Amino acid sequence: MSNAFNQFEALRARMDVFLGKLEQRGQEVGAEALATARDMKRSDPEEFRRSFGAFSSGITAQLMTLVTKAQATFEEQFSMFEDMDDDPDVELGYQALEERMEAWEEKMTWRAEHVFDELADDDAQATWDAAVAEWKSLASRFTCPQCSAPVPVPELYTVSVYLPCQGCGTQVTFTPSETMQSAVIAAESLAEAKARPYQKAYEIGVDDPEVLFPTWLADFARSKAVEQAELESLVPMVAAKKFPETINALTEHKDHPDDSVNLKFYPNSVPWDFQQVRLAYYGALVELARAIAELRAQGQPRAADLVRGMVPAFARPGCEVAAAVANDTYTEALVAPLLDHARTLNYLADEYGNPLVIN
Ligand SMILES: [Zn+2]
Repeated sequence: MSNAFNQFEALRARMDVFLGKLEQRGQEVGAEALATARDMKRSDPEEFRRSFGAFSSGITAQLMTLVTKAQATFEEQFSMFEDMDDDPDVELGYQALEERMEAWEEKMTWRAEHVFDELADDDAQATWDAAVAEWKSLASRFTCPQCSAPVPVPELYTVSVYLPCQGCGTQVTFTPSETMQSAVIAAESLAEAKARPYQKAYEIGVDDPEVLFPTWLADFARSKAVEQAELESLVPMVAAKKFPETINALTEHKDHPDDSVNLKFYPNSVPWDFQQVRLAYYGALVELARAIAELRAQGQPRAADLVRGMVPAFARPGCEVAAAVANDTYTEALVAPLLDHARTLNYLADEYGNPLVIN
């Protein structure tokens, strides 16, 4: 190892600590700002309406100075390593650090823009609670115009529906109140709020070269499934319309070229053709199976079933591992030999740089 590399490594270690500190500072500033805004909104809604815009852009700016600070430090400490093509260790180390810097900046920027996400949840919850109260009240006095028997209103409808009278069979029109009609948006917000931790992990992971394709894909699947399951529990009719979109959600990531394997070895190939036999594909199935088990362990069986339901649209035709995940007969023993095989192919490609002809 060269002197230059030793020097680079020492600085890199300090840079890691520095980035960690800035990140922690950012999280503290964000958490404090959210708490302040929440208090203000509760205690003085008028003042909140007037000043929230300026307050939130001030916080975003404050968080972005942390990013600027990191960029300046990186520039100052590492620019001398930028063009050391005669020292491959330094060159690779610099490239890796530069990529990590970019991912870190993306993550910090994303967080800066989402500090106040949870503020809207309180409004959504209040709107939803009001709609539920009206539903219960309307339902308790909803009767058949023909025979006067009570007609059950089993869910919070947001549009007019026909409900059968259980006494005489007449179809009775139920028209929701205005608050009930507007509850759709509140329900959607609450469902998004429930899925937010996974959505955050996905949005940050997808831009981070250190987070592999299977990991962020599973976060994406979890986020869609948790959102759908919550929507189903709140407004089943609305959720039914969204179901096809949820169940096909993974198809948009089928052709994602940015997986754990370097695509540069296959310059003329169709990504998904190779992805099918590569670590990324089986790795994704392993992570999806883990996500299903975790959701179940967390008491979210419907979300777990929804992730299972998403697998066929992602699966390669005839894939027995995907079928096992979808049918709930998956075991790690089933995927192990396929992963080994994929790892071998991956290793050969890495080692020799030749496009491999598979199958
Ligand atoms: Zn009746």
